[in-house]
Amino acid sequence: MNDREKTKEQLLAEIDLLRRRLAQAEETESTHRKAGLKFQRLLEVAPDGIIIVDRGGLITLVNAQAEKLFGYLREELLGQPIEILVPERFRGAHVGHRENYHTQPRTRPMGAGLDLAGRRKDGSEFPVEISLSPIETEEGARVISIVRDITDKKGAEQKLREKIREMDDFVHVVSHDLKEPLRGIEAFAGFLAEDYAHLLDNEGRRYVQFLKSSAVRMKDLIHDLLTLASISRKAPAQQKIDLNQIFRKVEEDLSYTIEQKKVRISRKHLLPTVVCDPTRMGELFKNLLSNAIKFNMSSVPEIEIDLKEEKGFYLFSVKDNGIGIDPRYQAQIFGLFERLHPQEEFEGTGAGLAICKKIIEDCGGKIWVESAPGKGSTFFFTLPQKDSR
Ligand code: ADP
Repeated sequence: MNDREKTKEQLLAEIDLLRRRLAQAEETESTHRKAGLKFQRLLEVAPDGIIIVDRGGLITLVNAQAEKLFGYLREELLGQPIEILVPERFRGAHVGHRENYHTQPRTRPMGAGLDLAGRRKDGSEFPVEISLSPIETEEGARVISIVRDITDKKGAEQKLREKIREMDDFVHVVSHDLKEPLRGIEAFAGFLAEDYAHLLDNEGRRYVQFLKSSAVRMKDLIHDLLTLASISRKAPAQQKIDLNQIFRKVEEDLSYTIEQKKVRISRKHLLPTVVCDPTRMGELFKNLLSNAIKFNMSSVPEIEIDLKEEKGFYLFSVKDNGIGIDPRYQAQIFGLFERLHPQEEFEGTGAGLAICKKIIEDCGGKIWVESAPGKGSTFFFTLPQKDSR
């Protein structure tokens, strides 16, 4: 093969290679275009508003649902700062949050726990939930926000709150009205037992005793119902309180039982000062401590109170060496009047933990238990760290 032929052959091979590359590129481009079209179509049928912004916060993409939600045409939005969709009073802060997002871009809800609002073209507002995700595009880093109108959800929540309030009012009134006739039953059963016992036979006396103890039990149930209803009906006081003081007062109130059962209570750390309702906090500690003592058959019941500081909240724990709780029932015991034992074994109404749950959730915290039968129980609860200086 002479040199000319070699060059010709090389050229042909090169052309062939180029042709194959071109075909490949065309194929890739068509796949991209198809994927792009698919993406575009997906965006348009998405039930949520989707808005993409660049690093400077300028809108680069808007889907049909976003146009509908905010009442703009997409031409009016493209190239505009995203703050156009934010109520005026939040705009300044929004710029800061947006710039901050780029320092730690990850998929997350925007302003978790906050009430967010979108602003329509006509200036009206609507409640929204927004999630943010960073995306890399050929044109650079972008942030995709998915906006959901939660007007219906908010309305349903409001209705539910009103219903619960009506229920609480009803429970309060009924419980109050039940107290009076019950006092009568208890008093007259007492008279029967004291003054007429000699006229009754053994069975009769047993019935009267049963009547008396049933009336006492009903009184306890009504008392707990009223406590729970009044917690729901009254807004909690927002006071700066030293939990050590509250705790000491509860120990004093329970001192008789503590001495009787030789209970040892240890606190690993000093408790913090928090902004809360002092009566409610007292109720919470009283319920947890008295349960730790009551559901305990150890010769020396031991209770350990611990505290950890986590990011933005305190984590408290109340640990005992009592009878423990089967994991199957650990969620159930926080329900109203839920008990795992008959009255004869351990006294109680089953309202204590429901009251604790209500108190903690009203403060924005959570309560749960970790336990196994025979291994003791640890009740955990959290309280947000509000400004308590
Ligand atoms: P009560 O103490 O009046 O029964 P609570 O609502 O305080 O009602 O508790 C509900 C149930 O949870 C109790 O009946 C008991 O079965 C279980 N429980 C609560 N605290 C403890 C504990 N520290 N150890 C074992 N079981 C417990």
